[in-house]
Amino acid sequence: MNHSVASYLQTDNLGAWGTYLEQVDRVTPYLGHLSRWVETLKRPKRTLIVDVPIELDNGTISHYEGYRVHHNLSRGPGKGGIRYHPDVTLSEVMALSAWMSIKTAVVNVPFGGAKGGIRVNPKSLSLGELERMTRRFTSEINMMIGPQKDIPAPDVNTNEQIMAWMMDTYSVNQGHTSTGVVTGKPIALGGSLGRRDATGRGVFVVAKEAYEDMGCDVTQARIAIQGLGNVGGEAARLFAKSGAKIVAIQDHSATLYNPNGFNMPDLLKHVSIAHEIKGFEGESIAVDSFWSAPCDILIPAALESQITKLNAQSIQAKLIVEGANGPTTPEADDILQEKGVVVVPDVIANAGGVTVSYFEWVQDFSSFFWTEEEINQRLDKIMTDAFRGISYVAKTNNVSLRTATFIVGCERILKAREMRGLYP
Ligand code: NAD
Repeated sequence: MNHSVASYLQTDNLGAWGTYLEQVDRVTPYLGHLSRWVETLKRPKRTLIVDVPIELDNGTISHYEGYRVHHNLSRGPGKGGIRYHPDVTLSEVMALSAWMSIKTAVVNVPFGGAKGGIRVNPKSLSLGELERMTRRFTSEINMMIGPQKDIPAPDVNTNEQIMAWMMDTYSVNQGHTSTGVVTGKPIALGGSLGRRDATGRGVFVVAKEAYEDMGCDVTQARIAIQGLGNVGGEAARLFAKSGAKIVAIQDHSATLYNPNGFNMPDLLKHVSIAHEIKGFEGESIAVDSFWSAPCDILIPAALESQITKLNAQSIQAKLIVEGANGPTTPEADDILQEKGVVVVPDVIANAGGVTVSYFEWVQDFSSFFWTEEEINQRLDKIMTDAFRGISYVAKTNNVSLRTATFIVGCERILKAREMRGLYP
C-alpha cells in the first residue's frame, strides 16, 4: 500500500481526498485574487504517520498504523476528530482534515482543520487493549496536539472515555492537568453540556432554515432519515417535536416505512435498548427503496458515499441535508442539481458538533461553564447566521449551496493566509 502524501496529491485519486480536490477546483473560479493562494488548500500542512505498538492481553505484541494530519492552521489551532476503523487511510484522514478546515471557517470558529485515526477494528480489542492503544497513540502524536496547537475530538468508534484517556495521557506528559487538549470529554472532566446532541441539533436548525428559504414549513414536512445514531437520532427527535412526520428510516439492521409518521419517542426508546431499528413496527421495505421513498426532506446521517449516480435520480425529496460526512458523490450531486433538489452540504449541515466543541474549549480556558440553554441558543444563532450567509452567496452567484459553502470557507481561510503572508 502506497501511503506517501505525494501519491494523494494527484487529482485522479478517486477516494475522499480526490472528491475534496474536485470540490476546491469547482470553487477556484469564484475566489478572485485569492485564487493565487488556492494551492495551500490542496496540500495538507503537516502529516504524521505513527506506529502504535501495544501488548495484547494474550502477551503478544500488535502494531497499528496511526495518523494525525494538520490540513490548514491559518485561522487557529487544528480541530478534528480521531477515527478508529480498519479502513482508515492517510488519504481519508487528509480529506477529513481538509473538510474540517472548511467547516470551522464556514461557522467562523477560530480553528483550522485537522483529523486523526488508527487503522484498527476497535471491536476486536478488550477495554484494556483499547486504553493502551489510545494512550500510546496520544504519546506518539504528542508533538502535534495541545490546547493552542491542535485539539482532537471523538469521531467514528471513539467516544468520551477515549477522550478522557487522551486528556489524561497528554496531561501526565505535560506535568499538569490540561482539559482543553481534547473536546467531547465527559462533563466531569470539563466537557460541555449540549455537546452530545449538538450535531443533530445543528442538522435540524439548518434544515428548518433551508426549508423556510424554499417557502415551505418544516412542521408540515415528511422526513426520511438514514442512521438513527448520535446525529440522526437527535435530528429525528427534534423534527418530530416540531410536528414534522418521520416517514422512512434506515439503519444497519432494517429499512422501515410508515406514511403516517413513526412515534419517535417510542422508536428512540426501542433503539436505546435494541441498538437497532429492527423489530419496531412499520412496513419493512427493501434497502434500495429507502432512497425513492416519498418524502420532502432527506437526511443521510450514517455513512459516506450513500447517494450515488445509481440512486440520485430516484430521490423524491425536495431538500437533502447532509448529516453524515461526504454522503453524496460528485456525480450524484450533479444529478440532484439538474433535478432541482436543494442539497445543504455536510460542511455546514453537521457543523453543530464542532461549534459546541469550540464552546467546550472556551469554557475550559475560562474554567467557567455555561448552561445548556445558553449553549443551545448560541449554537442556534451560529448555525442560522452561517446558513443565511451561505444562502445569500448561493443566490448572488447563482451557484449550489455546496459551491457557496466552499466559496465562504475557502475565502475565509485564504484571506487569513494572505494577511499572514508567507514566512520567510
Ligand atoms: P453513530 O455511530 O452514532 O450512528 C451511525 C448510524 O448509522 C447508526 O444508526 C447505524 O445503524 C447507521 N448505519 C451504519 N451502517 C449503516 C448502513 N450500512 N446503512 C444504513 N445505516 C447504517 O454515528 P454518528 O455519530 O451519528 O455519525 C453519523 C455520521 O455523521 C458520520 O458520517 C459522522 O462522520 C458524521 N458526523 C458526526 C458528528 C458527531 O458529532 N457525532 C459530527 C459531524 C459529522
